[in-house]
Amino acid sequence: MAKGHVLIDFERCKGCELCASVCPKGGIKMSEQFNAKGYRPAVWLNPDGACTGCALCALICPDTAITVYREVVPRMAVVKAAHN
Ligand code: SF4
Ligand code: SF4
Repeated sequence: MAKGHVLIDFERCKGCELCASVCPKGGIKMSEQFNAKGYRPAVWLNPDGACTGCALCALICPDTAITVYREVVPRMAVVKAAHN
């Protein structure tokens, strides 16, 4: 299973909660703090390291506040695993 790492721009976020609603792993919650615009931004918590890097959160964000990095398994490792 792929692993993801998510960065959320605290000041760009407008707290709409869409990202939290679509994450299949429940990995995004809303902050208790306010940003400079007065919104409670989303925070990536990633419980149990469950994020798969699916990028649903980034795709639905209307403010392009989310960047998703996905861990890529090197092709040779996949080929070797297939032949073992
Ligand atoms: S990349 Fe997918 S699993 Fe990870 S936080 Fe975003 S929606 Fe959730
Ligand atoms: S979808 Fe974007 S703007 Fe909305 S809460 Fe998530 S990061 Fe913030």
